[in-house]
Amino acid sequence: METPVKKQDIRKLSLEEIQDFFVSIGDKAFRAKQVYEWLWKKSAKDFDQMTNISLQTRELLKEHFAINHIQVDQMQRSSDGTIKNAVKLHDGMIVESVLIPTETRITACISSQVGCSLDCNFCATARLKRMRNLNADEIYDQVVAIKEEGELYFDRPLTNIVYMGMGEPLLNYKNVLESIEKITSPEGLGMSPKRITLSTVGIPKMIKQLADDEVKFNLAVSLHSAIDESRTRMMPFNEKNSLAELAESLQYWHRKTGKKVTFEYVVWKDINDDEKHAKALAKYCGRVASKVNIIEYNPIDDGEFQQADPASLDMYKRILEEKGIIVNIRRSRGKDIDAACGQLANKS
Ligand code: SAH
Repeated sequence: METPVKKQDIRKLSLEEIQDFFVSIGDKAFRAKQVYEWLWKKSAKDFDQMTNISLQTRELLKEHFAINHIQVDQMQRSSDGTIKNAVKLHDGMIVESVLIPTETRITACISSQVGCSLDCNFCATARLKRMRNLNADEIYDQVVAIKEEGELYFDRPLTNIVYMGMGEPLLNYKNVLESIEKITSPEGLGMSPKRITLSTVGIPKMIKQLADDEVKFNLAVSLHSAIDESRTRMMPFNEKNSLAELAESLQYWHRKTGKKVTFEYVVWKDINDDEKHAKALAKYCGRVASKVNIIEYNPIDDGEFQQADPASLDMYKRILEEKGIIVNIRRSRGKDIDAACGQLANKS
């Protein structure tokens, strides 16, 4: 019996490589451009959608290649309009992405890894083992799926993208950057990098790499404490990557890109809801060009972590504002379907 040949994923090829393919079969190189446009700009999920390509050529492409497009396996809608997609990858693994609608925006929150290798104590994704990195096209497809849902259910275009779903984007550096390249390119979705935010636990070495690569998108760091001891307790990763090193990398980022970083910060009862922590944060922000988003805690089962009282949030706001630091207090969305920050855990 013949063993079935695994077809090559055509989206792993560059435009030039597709051109070479056409030339090698005695066809015209310009076909490659049409195919490439179908693959990326028009997000074709199968070769038969490529209606301006001859039937014969389409058959030939099918013989040689596959399009490993993701599939939205399950879609859930929250009472506040938030949509969560459970997305199936070509090897059967599942990740989640979220559409967050507000008055003025349609935001896609997308995943960069299957599971996560970090072990932040308060995050549901941390309980899943890291299985693998996503490819650039799998990241891109999540954006396309949300974009299509935004148009279908809200009749509005996608406005923002946040790399805040499952996984640590800076531990999948190459593919994440390649996906952003495709999202921003005129041959892809043509979105402005100003509308894209990458959120990281804060890996100093990789933040410097981003600065050296002169990226144009925004950077957010999940800080949660500006005191090493308590940050390490919540985010064991901090033990080998101190706040001092993080600050130094963010100063470098600012020098190279001229951009501020956004600190994401959850205030938990009896953990970091005192003045000592708020003052440490204000001092840290004084060293690094930054603003602060205080985000609501989304419970993930056991009671170890609890959202702080509103009075503590007000105290944080006052202390930060006294130092001239911009601070926003953000409410969570999609909690009823486990779609809020830190709740993505492939429960369904
Ligand atoms: N690894 C990246 C991106 C994924 S986490 C990072 O660390 O930034 C996305 C955001 O959700 C982070 O700011 C994270 O700290 C926050 N988060 C995780 N669990 C949460 C929870 N249970 N409630 C609220 N925010 C949470």
